[in-house]
Amino acid sequence: MTVRITLVRGDITAQDTDAIVNAANSSLMGGGGVDGAIHRRGGAAILEECKRIRAEQFPDGLPTGRAVATTAGRLNARWVIHTVGPVYAKSEDRSGLLASCHIESLSIADEIGAKTVAFPAISTGIYGYPLHEAAPVAIRSVLGARTLVEDVRFVLFDEAAFQAFETALAAEQGGDRPAKK
Ligand code: ADP
Repeated sequence: MTVRITLVRGDITAQDTDAIVNAANSSLMGGGGVDGAIHRRGGAAILEECKRIRAEQFPDGLPTGRAVATTAGRLNARWVIHTVGPVYAKSEDRSGLLASCHIESLSIADEIGAKTVAFPAISTGIYGYPLHEAAPVAIRSVLGARTLVEDVRFVLFDEAAFQAFETALAAEQGGDRPAKK
């Protein structure tokens, strides 16, 4: 069964999906953007679990492209899946790492039994990935993933992000097929 993708404009911390994905950094100790909002609204329980994961599994930090799950604390979701997006670089194609964030997050969702997952536009804030490059990678990797997750909701913070994802989704769903002669 293929994943159903929906796009919404909004704040990821308000989502009621089983899991929400955090655009974390490798320290897992919180940061700006989505990360800051999730820790602020979710409360200290999330950071506590992140600290334990660091100590027990990733003493050097969570590598880029990987994902781990914690409680969602006071948020509506049950779990937060933390993943580390690549920092954008003009000199190097890091789209494989960005794709990996999505695939690994869905794989963690399968492990914990989450059927509905909300993603932010990973790497497109502080990490500088242009929206028109990140959106097709995100959409394609979710559509191509082997997962038991049924619903993926991309939660886009502003109109520019929403439009980039809308364009990318339309292209993947057949909008860019050459017309038949
Ligand atoms: P990264 O470090 O991976 O670039 P950021 O958190 O800086 O992550 O930004 C990722 C994207 O999330 C950006 O497009 C940003 O506008 C958006 N964003 C920031 N806060 C929120 C939020 N509360 N809900 C949804 N998206 C958000």
